Amino acid sequence: MPIAENLLKIKESLPEQVTLVAVSKTKPVSDLMQAYNAGQRIFGENKIQEMVDKWEQMPKNIAWHMIGHVQTNKVKYMAPFVSLIHGVDSLKLLVEINKQALKNNRIIDCLLQIYIAEEESKFGLDEQELQQLLSSPTFTQMKNIKIVGLMGMATFTNDQNQIKKEFTHLKSMFDNIQKLETTNCQLSTISMGMSGDYSLAIECGSTMVRIGSSIFGGR
Ligand SMILES: *Cc1c(COP(=O)(O)O)cnc(C)c1O
Repeated sequence: MPIAENLLKIKESLPEQVTLVAVSKTKPVSDLMQAYNAGQRIFGENKIQEMVDKWEQMPKNIAWHMIGHVQTNKVKYMAPFVSLIHGVDSLKLLVEINKQALKNNRIIDCLLQIYIAEEESKFGLDEQELQQLLSSPTFTQMKNIKIVGLMGMATFTNDQNQIKKEFTHLKSMFDNIQKLETTNCQLSTISMGMSGDYSLAIECGSTMVRIGSSIFGGR
């Protein structure tokens, strides 16, 4: 099916409060423009250089989300324009984002990535590391970042109960810290759910889904 049709079908199926990030990694700008022309304004990429290239070539009223693992030394390339960084998983990375945001006179929104899967390969913080980060003086003093929520990726499995358990875990961690309102921490977003599991993620409380192959086709 054409990209525009895929996109509109998915959009129709999403509840009003759920934000759609169109994951366009590895796809050419011409594909992204089809989604753009169908009204999509939020795109997710997992490599900084690729996101910068696409940002340069595409209309400027697009919100670019970095959904991949971020290397500290590359933050500077996206700091002028990135709209949300999903994969923040260390204080060290947050320190660098804060520094580059300051240089650009911006406040950059971030999600903390939580480790919920049963796979060694996935990145993220556990519950204790999350608490440590949020209570550290280094974090509380940062003025150019804002934590707006949590992000997680479920195990790659067909076991719906397993996936549901992992999403529910993320939702409960979010609920536990939601009352913690400071200037640089205002939690509203739970980024969970991809092409294969977004309906389940929404049932479990997701407010932001990251969908790639169901819109743009396989990679
Ligand atoms: C690639 C990717 C997605 C989208 O995956 P699809 O299965 O193609 O929808 C979502 N989140 C992250 C972090 C990704 O890397």
